[in-house]
Amino acid sequence: MKQPTNTPNHFEHLLDQHHLKKTAPRLKVLSMMADKETATSQPDLESLMNDVDRVTLYRILNVFEEKGIIHKVFDLNGTANYAICTSNCQEHRHHDEHLHFNCTQCNNVYCLNDLNLPAFDLPPGFKVNGFTLYATGLCPDCSKKQN
Ligand SMILES: [Zn+2]
Ligand SMILES: [Zn+2]
Ligand SMILES: [Zn+2]
Repeated sequence: MKQPTNTPNHFEHLLDQHHLKKTAPRLKVLSMMADKETATSQPDLESLMNDVDRVTLYRILNVFEEKGIIHKVFDLNGTANYAICTSNCQEHRHHDEHLHFNCTQCNNVYCLNDLNLPAFDLPPGFKVNGFTLYATGLCPDCSKKQN
């Protein structure tokens, strides 16, 4: 999702914070994801990062995911999509407890952060560390086109 803090300086700071070297491909991945309203699918990333070899790209994605910078969502086709995390996420501790909305028409995955999520009433003995919410349907663009 678009955030006002997504300036190039912000990304350099982010990499510093996680003790990652500020390489051009890393910065490019971050700024590409930040520019998009939706999560970016792995094939899209590959074509957008066509100047970087795949192995390097996967390493970047893995390290970002490990560090709590980006999170992975699988769409309806089982393709991995990546989106930038909120500041709630830490190294090895993701807290992306927001709704992932997968449009059945354009297949875009939206991270919907600003929702009031229901509290879960779990049976005794269960302790929640995290959860994922996943919805399918039509995004605003596609529902407009249908009318
Ligand atoms: Zn996360
Ligand atoms: Zn759509
Ligand atoms: Zn998300």
